[in-house]
Parts: sequence; C-alpha cells; structure tokens
Amino acid sequence: MYIKDQVKKLSPYKPGKTIEEVKNELGLKEIIKLASNENPFGCSDQVKNHIKDNAMNYAIYPDGGGTILRNALAAFYHLSGNHFILGNGSDEIIQIISRAMLDSSKNTVMAAPTFPQYKHNAVIEGAEVIEVPLVEGHHNLQAMASAVNGQTAVVWVCSPNNPTGVSIAEKDLVQFLDQIPKDVLIVLDEAYYEYVTAEDYYNALELINSYSNLIVTRTFSKAYGLAGFRVGYGIANPALIQSLEPVREPFNTNALAQQAAAAAIGDQTFIESCRQQNREGIQKFEQFCHEHGLTYYPSQGNFILVHFNQDADDLFEALLRKGIIVRSGQALGFPNSLRITIGSSDQVDKTLKAIRETISH
Ligand SMILES: *Cc1c(COP(=O)(O)O)cnc(C)c1O
Repeated sequence: MYIKDQVKKLSPYKPGKTIEEVKNELGLKEIIKLASNENPFGCSDQVKNHIKDNAMNYAIYPDGGGTILRNALAAFYHLSGNHFILGNGSDEIIQIISRAMLDSSKNTVMAAPTFPQYKHNAVIEGAEVIEVPLVEGHHNLQAMASAVNGQTAVVWVCSPNNPTGVSIAEKDLVQFLDQIPKDVLIVLDEAYYEYVTAEDYYNALELINSYSNLIVTRTFSKAYGLAGFRVGYGIANPALIQSLEPVREPFNTNALAQQAAAAAIGDQTFIESCRQQNREGIQKFEQFCHEHGLTYYPSQGNFILVHFNQDADDLFEALLRKGIIVRSGQALGFPNSLRITIGSSDQVDKTLKAIRETISH
C-alpha cells in the first residue's frame, strides 16, 4: 500500500496515561491529573442542565452549519455568523487551514517549541517547516517576520504559547502583523484566551478588522471545560472564512457538542471564576518557585512551565508515584522542566507539597 513518505516518518499522538490506568498500576486511591490543561472545575452547570433538559433525536445528522452555536458566538462577540468557522476542536481548524493552504510548493513559519499540531499537519501536507526558536519563552517575532519569504503560505503564532505560557504584548503583535505580506495567512492560536489577565494583551477581534490575513482560533476545551465535546472555532473576515469552508467536513461538530458549547457561552460568571482561581493558583506556584530558587516562565495560560536542575522524566516519575500526573518537558523541548496544569486550590497545594518532597532529597 502507498503511504506518503512524510506520514511514515510521523508518530501518532501519544496520549498520557488515564487516571484509571495510573490508579490500577500504582494502587493509589486519589489521582490528580494536571497534564492536559483541562479545567479542574469541570464546566458550567448551565451546560449540564441544558443537555439534561433538551432531549435530542440522535438518528438525525447535526446541523452542518452549527446555527445555534454560530448565533451564540456572533451575539457574544458582536460579529456576524459568517465571521466563524466551527471545528471538532481547534485542532481541526489547524488541520483545515493546513489542508487548504499548504502543499509541497509552500513553507510555513512557526516558533519552536510551540503547539505541535502546526508542524504535524504541515508535514502531512508536504510543506517545508521553518521553525524559529523562542527567546526566553517568547516568540521571536522579528526573526519570524524575517523568515517569511515568497513561498510562505502560513505563519503560526500561539499566544499564550503552549508550553511556555508566555503571551504577546499588543505593540509587539501589531508591529509583527504590519510586516507580514497580505497574501500570507497569520494564525493566532488563542486556546488560553479566557485565562489571560496581562494588561498589555491585544484585542484580537479588533485586529481582525484591520488585518484581512489574520485568523484567530479559540476553543471550548480549556476554560469552558468541554474538552470531551471537541469544539473549537476560527474567527476571521467572512471572505477568508469562506475560502476555508470547502475543506471542512459537512458535519464536523456533533449535535451534543453544538448545544453544550452554545450553553457554555451563556455562563460568563463561570469563566470569570475560573480565570480568577487560575490566577491565584499561578501566584502560589510563583511564590513556591521564589522560595525554592526555581525559575519559570510567567504564564498567562492555565499551566506553568517550571525549570528544575534535574531530568524532567525522573521528576515526572517521582510525582506520578505520589499520584500526580504532570507533563514532562522532555517531549516538549524543555528537558529539565515540567508543564503543570493549574488545578483547584487543594490540588495546587498537594502538587506543591509533592514537588517539595521530591526535590528535597
Ligand atoms: C489545547 C490546545 C489546542 C487544541 O484544543 P482543542 O481541544 O483541539 O480545541 C490548540 N492550541 C493550543 C495552543 C492548545 O494548547
């Protein structure tokens, strides 16, 4: 059978261990999973009630246009429905953009390390990948702009960046956008948008009006706590959205997910509360790092990348034995760092206690 050369060289996504697996393997009662930046507070009660109260006919296809969700997004952002493209997670928006715009005659520019799906999809499409190293956890936007050439189709910008958590300041982003030719697409991945509290953060929706070559991606998987439903979306001017739509599968977001996401937008009190508790958790981590002489990147996401003076896989194993699952930086390009999702207050305390015990011997 013919498999594309570039696909043969890729490995499938390696999911972390499930809570049940770890429980069984280690005989532990309580497991705290802080590896995938999921919301420790779950999702809004409004979502649960809405799903419970709205019986659906599972035999019929979902609304391919996602009208209910599209209208909810349009109302929330004060935009028209045709500013949005819906995806089975924002992962799928990344895939749609790659399928529509990348092939072996094109290249694509991104930071390194950053969210791995940009590169993964570009490789599948056969495009050349140009990676520009981060500087102190920040995108090197100047170098990224310089890397753009006549064959560049897409530039990926992740803010806050996964795995460093660092966000981009408005003046830096605008300066960058001004340098990118109008026929090159800029994807601004804001998966952690709802968690951002930085005062120098830009307003992506205003930028969409000024830059016709900008698409912003956001998701219901992180702050909205709906990762299991798989819903993400892109926001851009209607002409750009229209040019991507043919690549989208007709029924890519499922019926339950559309309902859940639309209900979730209605509860901004929940999002506000998550944002605040997340910020308190980050402050506890920062305090802990100062007390223990550890360095970290200042995070605007719901996770923090903490640097240690030892192998991250060893630390990961030691914490796992205490029932705490974090993400080793080994696979993320930071061999001595851990990426830790900010849990609830109680989970943060238990995690810091476990780290303290682990690094002190
Ligand atoms: C989690 C994440 C996504 C993907 O989220 P979906 O669940 O596919 O919506 C996209 N980008 C970044 C940076 C992420 O961390």
